[in-house]
Formats: sequence, C-alpha cells, structure tokens
Amino acid sequence: MIARSMADSTIAQRLLDGDRRALARAITLVENDSPEGWELVREVYSHTGNAEVIGFTGPPGVGKSTLIGALTKARREAGRTVGVLSIDPSSPFTHGALLGDRIRLTEHFLDRGVFIRSMANRGALGGLSEAALQAALLLDAAGRQDVFVETVGVGQAEIDIIDHADTIVLVLMPGSGDSIQALKAGVMEIPDVIVINKADHPLTDTMVREIRGVLSLANLDRSPEEVRARWRVPIIKTEASRGEGIGELVQSIQEHGEHIRAAGQLAERRGRNLRNEVLAIATARMRRRLEEELSGDPEFKHLLEEVVGRRLDPASAATQLLERQPSLGRECE
Ligand code: GDP
Repeated sequence: MIARSMADSTIAQRLLDGDRRALARAITLVENDSPEGWELVREVYSHTGNAEVIGFTGPPGVGKSTLIGALTKARREAGRTVGVLSIDPSSPFTHGALLGDRIRLTEHFLDRGVFIRSMANRGALGGLSEAALQAALLLDAAGRQDVFVETVGVGQAEIDIIDHADTIVLVLMPGSGDSIQALKAGVMEIPDVIVINKADHPLTDTMVREIRGVLSLANLDRSPEEVRARWRVPIIKTEASRGEGIGELVQSIQEHGEHIRAAGQLAERRGRNLRNEVLAIATARMRRRLEEELSGDPEFKHLLEEVVGRRLDPASAATQLLERQPSLGRECE
C-alpha cells in the first residue's frame, strides 16, 4: 500500500514537471477509470486552471485534425506548448492508441512541446465526457499552455465534451448543410467561432451567407443592448491543408479569450462547466451504486415484472424503488 502511494506521488510530481510519459500514463489511468487516476487528478488539481482550452467540433472529414495541426504549428512558433485530445464518442472500440493515426499531426510527433492523445473509451465512470475533462486537467497540470480538444460530430454527446472549453470552434465545410440545420434547430448552442474549411470550394460564400442568416435569427430575441454587448461570432474561411486563414483563426480565438475575460465570463463559464462536472460524476456514482444494490434483488425483479406486465407504470415503479432505497440519502462513492 505504502509502495503504491509512493509510486503515485512520483507520477504526480513527474506530471507537474511536464514529463510526457507520466502524462501518458496518467491519462490512461483516468481513461480506464482507475482509482489511481482519480487520485492523481486530486493531487494535481490545484495546479490547473492555467491552460487555454479550445474545443473543436464538426462533422467527420471537414478538416478538424488538419486545422488543429496547422494551429499547433502556429502556436509552437509563438513559443507555446500544446496538448491535443482527440475524442470520438461514436467509436464503439476502446483503441485510443490506434485512433491516434487519424490525427494528421505527424509533423509534430517528435516535438516535445506537443502532446497528442486520442480517447474513445466509453467505460469510464460518468462517461467519456468526464474522462475527457480529467485528461484535459492533466494536460493543464502538466503545463500545456494550449489544450485543443477535438470531437467528431455535432450531437449532444460531442457538445457535452467540448462544453468544458473556454472557446468553442465549430468547423464546417461548404456543402455540409446538416450542420447548419443542427445550428438552426438549436441542437448546439451557438459556438464562439465558426470556421469554414476547404474554402476554395465555389459554395463557400453561399455557406457564409447561410450561417450569417442563422446567427442573426438567434439575435432576434435579444435587445439591441444585448446584441451590442455580445460576442460577435466570427466566420473564418480557412484552407487548413495549405495553412490559409490560420493566422486569422488564431487571432479570433485570442480575441474571444480576451472578450470573455474582460466581461467576467471566463470565470462564469468555468464555474458552470465545473458545476456540471460535479453533478455528472455524482449522478454516475449514484447510478452505479443503485445498480450494484439492485443486482439480484428479488423485489426489484418483481417490480420490473409488474412494469413489463403493464400492471405498474415506470414512474410509479421508480417512486417505489426510491422509497425503499434509504442508502440513496447516504454519501455515494
Ligand atoms: P476531420 O475528420 O474533420 O478531422 O478531417 P481531416 O483533418 O482528417 O481532413 C479530411 C480530409 O480533408 C483530409 O484528406 C485532408 O487532407 C483534407 N483537407 C483538410 N483541409 C483541407 C482544405 O483546406 N482543403 C482541401 N481541399 N482539403 C482539405
């Protein structure tokens, strides 16, 4: 036991010193929902809060990885250290290491100032979103100044993951009309920056106009003062594979960071995200505890049979379940 805790504190110290192997090991621990992983996060948590976390989302194939590669290059040239987390909630496999191949960051693999990691493991307590946040915290504690979190798709799961970011970038390409629909339908909140990659496409300007339309619709419910005070979501045209528009994107991300800092929104945003995080972990633990307590419970089995037999409705069954579950009031682990 003593030997183990000594080993753990060594990982924590090495991680705080920026050791890449300790960082890789630590992320694996949180990804596998290992108690040692949670312990590590606990130890280093007070050293977090310094990284700028930028989340990228958008459909597969629009060029997110290429864009992150180009941004990484720009940030390295500016002397910043970078951490990249690529997250694929849709992947049913737990082969994070293999997914790394997807990231088109090969030119950065030998650069010690860049740490790249893929995650696809759904098994972690509280889900991938929580594991991703823990991993981002570890990168932050290890001194990465810019943390790029990439997630595939524009559904709710993806948004939950990048919701932990200070700035959210939605990446689209001309012709990806579904994403505009998703914006319109409010599936995703309005992002902070919108990128239209592959901007050499003839439909690019049409798409810019469509997105402007969606953004101005979102402003209809707001007062003129509110609209003036709000961050104006920039639409940046890029060609990631040729490095075009990257300078402008870097600038927009920085301006957004400055805007939310000046308006006091950064602390508010981080506070809201951490609140969600605490609730998500607590909910996951309560559910796990409940499932453990109910496994093999004959009364629960009977209750379910009543529901299946249409003699009892699901909500009444849940009420009965909670009434006879005094442990739920106790501390959940
Ligand atoms: P992701 O799935 O969103 O991460 O997209 P990738 O970064 O993997 O890019 C998908 C494909 O689009 C790759 O073949 C890239 O080389 C290509 N690509 C990326 N950016 C551009 C661009 O600006 N123009 C063109 N024509 N192709 C690009």
